[in-house]
Amino acid sequence: MSKKFALAGAVALALTMTPLAAGTASAATEQQAAVTTVYYSTANAPTFRSVINAGAANWNNSVTNVRLVERNSGASLRYTEGNDPRGSYASTNGHGSGTIFIDYTQARQYNPTRIAAHETGHALGLPDHYSGPCSELMSGGGPGPSCTNAFPNATERARVNSLWANGLVATDQRRVHETIYGF
Ligand SMILES: [Zn+2]
Repeated sequence: MSKKFALAGAVALALTMTPLAAGTASAATEQQAAVTTVYYSTANAPTFRSVINAGAANWNNSVTNVRLVERNSGASLRYTEGNDPRGSYASTNGHGSGTIFIDYTQARQYNPTRIAAHETGHALGLPDHYSGPCSELMSGGGPGPSCTNAFPNATERARVNSLWANGLVATDQRRVHETIYGF
């Protein structure tokens, strides 16, 4: 069920990077590389607020170039919840903007924190890799419902740090459309 939606393909939505989002970058100290803050809203996903925050914390504890902060006003990344036969998904430009949907049925079958962290991984730039092991966050539902790992592995951490090395300036010029990724 969850994998049918895996390769739903690109949806040619217009770039949603807004001046507001562009203004969310904040510099750390002069000695450190700049850390980009991505603000996310859980206002429309109240059932999953705790697991969304747990997934975001896992990312914050894993990477250094981007930081996820919950703030419902002006957020570039918005979580929602509901019922969808396609399961959970992220519709995102892969660089901090978009919408993440968490499906009730899927969240009862799979570990909800893994779902949230996985979908957040899409918003940070990672694609799906369903053939990977449970230790790989972006293997999503591939390893089955018994997999409860909600942390990115070393390769995934390094990739996200690389993708955010230049802040909100996307290093991948293909990131001009939103794409839909499943769990
Ligand atoms: Zn996915």
